[in-house]
Amino acid sequence: MKLLLLPGDGIGPEVLAETRRVINVLNAHHGLGLDVETGDIGGASIERHGTSLTASVLDLARASHAVLMGAVGGPQWADMAFELRPEQGLLNLRKGLGLFANLRPAYCFDALADASTLKRGVIEGLDILIVRELIGGVYFGEPRGIEILPDGTRRGFNTQSYTTAEIERVARTAFDLARQRDSRVCSVEKANVMESGVVWRETVTALQASEYPDVALSHMYADNCAMQLVRNPRQFDVILTDNLFGDILSDEAGMLTGSLGMLPSAALGETGAPGLYEPIHGSAPDIAGKGVANPCAAILSLAMALRYQLGRPDLAALTETAVSEVLNAGYRTADLLGGEGSCVVGTQGMGRAIAERLSA
Ligand code: NAD
Repeated sequence: MKLLLLPGDGIGPEVLAETRRVINVLNAHHGLGLDVETGDIGGASIERHGTSLTASVLDLARASHAVLMGAVGGPQWADMAFELRPEQGLLNLRKGLGLFANLRPAYCFDALADASTLKRGVIEGLDILIVRELIGGVYFGEPRGIEILPDGTRRGFNTQSYTTAEIERVARTAFDLARQRDSRVCSVEKANVMESGVVWRETVTALQASEYPDVALSHMYADNCAMQLVRNPRQFDVILTDNLFGDILSDEAGMLTGSLGMLPSAALGETGAPGLYEPIHGSAPDIAGKGVANPCAAILSLAMALRYQLGRPDLAALTETAVSEVLNAGYRTADLLGGEGSCVVGTQGMGRAIAERLSA
């Protein structure tokens, strides 16, 4: 199995160095046998190669089983044209790998339950997965634009549109993932007021009946889902939703469990194609180079790759357990609340503690 590491910018290289430490331990002590290559993306690639993603790195990504990215972007490139900026490298990578399903887990580590803005009783034991359609819907639909009306005022417009094929492929991803969990999918749209929602609901219903009768399917309107996520989030297993609603609901769900530094993600394409795994946080220029970034989101992104693409769900669980144990032992990076008996560590301290648990 081959993994491509793309550290990128800001804290990206710092958190991926700790992920690499974890891979080394899994290779040495748990027979992972993962081959690791490294490439440039984002600002780092602009500085070395004049472009945010080179054709050779894209080829390397296509030839890998999975890609793990740190983060891209930073103030030094903020004045460049959009198409030249570091973030464009990430967009091109997603496009080049044909990634259409975004996976955002929201998992509550027991040791951090009190860091949530919700009561411990509401989020304790939370384990949900949001599957968001990534390359369709209103962010991409045509026609779109801004026009001047006859009276001189303006009209901005975008188009929400989904075809049966676009809905089916992301729904398949959600149903397949549900089979590895609690076999429940809640499909979320606004079929009460949007035609695209009607097509979404009917397509998902038909697919479940024909191919996934073993997975329980329910439907919910997006506004109700936003409410249920803070009222009783543990009712969900897998939430399947479109690009726009998923953008909002996945951020909402992520924040139920505390810090940005704890949240992994994945983007998947067709079965067998390499997926892209990355922490949801950015390059955090305010703390880059200080050695204080939390590497857990990156390490948990590796765990997702182990589970969903590298055929080692056992090592995914082991890695997640190691993170959990380290938190239970009181280790905290600065972004996590201190708490009684806690020991504040930097990026390397957290990475080392997790790696030590895995080599014990
Ligand atoms: P950010 O996620 O980088 O940082 C937001 C805040 O969270 C900052 O205060 C930061 O210090 C903190 N933070 C983030 N990750 C952390 C971690 N692992 N440990 C501790 N604290 C952490 O978002 P931003 O400041 O809005 O964006 C900075 C740059 O990152 C921008 O150039 C943006 O375009 C880019 N960005 C990239 C990605 C990506 O690569 N996928 C995602 C979001 C933003």
